[in-house]
Amino acid sequence: MEKMLYEGKSKSIYEGPDDKSYIVRYRDTATAFDGKKREELDGKGALNAAISHIIYGYLEQNGIETHLIKVIDDTTALVKKAEIVMVEVIVRNVAAGSFSRKYGVPEGTELQNVTTEFSLKSDELGDPMINNSQITALGIATAQELDYMTDQALKINDLMIGMFSKVGIRLVDYKLEFGRCDGKLILCDEISPDSCRFWDIETNQKLDKDRFRRDLGNVLDGYRDVLSRLTGE
Ligand code: 5GP
Repeated sequence: MEKMLYEGKSKSIYEGPDDKSYIVRYRDTATAFDGKKREELDGKGALNAAISHIIYGYLEQNGIETHLIKVIDDTTALVKKAEIVMVEVIVRNVAAGSFSRKYGVPEGTELQNVTTEFSLKSDELGDPMINNSQITALGIATAQELDYMTDQALKINDLMIGMFSKVGIRLVDYKLEFGRCDGKLILCDEISPDSCRFWDIETNQKLDKDRFRRDLGNVLDGYRDVLSRLTGE
């Protein structure tokens, strides 16, 4: 195996075959609360890889530039080397999670418009929310980059709502990451039940990592359900 360059909470990054790429391996580790809760869930890596690759393929087909070069096997992919922008972009269609707690809005409340927000990528600090002027003041990203990421996030949201509503899934909220590559920003990291809230459209049953965070049980049954709906199998 190639040299490991970085071990994240649920993925490991290895040297790629050339200096323009990395190999990403999805592991079975599940973490929550900035890594404080941790468990091995047999098969999670392959489920997340499969789901993320289907979403990335669809986004690419619809004009969104992403880091994905090619899928190697069940748990690994070749991706473009990119310098990750150290903020997460959070997109919300329905109130849930920290939004509900912070603003006192019941989970499941449909929002009158899509919201986007940034949070600083820092487990130590608990990924605090950060605004545009704070991000530019700290030199983390430029105003143009923030506008571009927001614009891309809204395009991705329209595409993903279309994709998931067709298979009976309510796209509640999710997290995106971008990286700088060849003078452009491209979509990086994964889009999976680890980084999204997916609810069944009819029953509002949770099909995502909230099953793990909230000890609801049968975590991977939700992930399997998402994958089988997307593949139609
Ligand atoms: P919240 O702010 O409600 O905790 O999270 C909003 C959405 O972004 C949820 O779908 C959650 O899964 C995702 N999200 C927020 N922060 C992170 C993070 O650090 N890692 C991952 N994988 N997802 C996150």
